[in-house]
Amino acid sequence: MIKTEYPIYWEKEDFSIKIFCSIPAIATGILLRAGGAKVVIDPGDGILRDLNEELTPEEILSITDVFITHGHHDHVGGVWSLLTYLRIMRKRTTLNIWFPEGCPEIESIYNAFRTVYSNSIPYPIILRTIMDYKPFTRRGLTVKPFPVIHAEKIEDGPETRLVPSLGFKFTWQGKKICYGGDTAYCEELVKQAKGADLAIIEAGEDEDSVPGMHMTQEEAEKIGRTAKEFFLVHVPQ
Ligand SMILES: [Zn+2]
Repeated sequence: MIKTEYPIYWEKEDFSIKIFCSIPAIATGILLRAGGAKVVIDPGDGILRDLNEELTPEEILSITDVFITHGHHDHVGGVWSLLTYLRIMRKRTTLNIWFPEGCPEIESIYNAFRTVYSNSIPYPIILRTIMDYKPFTRRGLTVKPFPVIHAEKIEDGPETRLVPSLGFKFTWQGKKICYGGDTAYCEELVKQAKGADLAIIEAGEDEDSVPGMHMTQEEAEKIGRTAKEFFLVHVPQ
């Protein structure tokens, strides 16, 4: 296995993505910029530290949207600290959090946040459950959610279950970035990655993976090569 060095940065004019990290079972954290818009994808543990190094406090306050591929801790571990930081820094504008239907973690974190801070949250938070795969547009950035296949173990036994999981394709002025999230090899990702300007593909399989959980490096590269450029992420380290 190759060791991926972070951060990874890619840009085409005013469309850019910075992957602060994507390490299985530890943390993911991604910032996407499209023109003046800034959105965060999969804010795992450490997202606040990484955003703080990258952006001014005013820029962090201007983040409009957070996209969650699935509820595993290495993809949502930083949500609490991000919400709290935006509170103490007195964010005023709305924060939208997009996440797959059936993902309990985001609603639980949000409800706990509301319980703790009740009347002292200065900014509106809108939970946006993604129930279908229709594209939508945020300040000129088109977002196309798509279903992927990502299993997890049930306790330590041999049983597995599927986790509600999405990939996202982001289109800005004709340029496309496809991020598959965590996924086993699946046809929907094959379709969405093909021809993208950038594909970000997980290659997370290791000896602890169960079937339907992650991809081998070979599978990930096969998909990645159908895009104009690709990065392999979530490689076990
Ligand atoms: Zn996962």
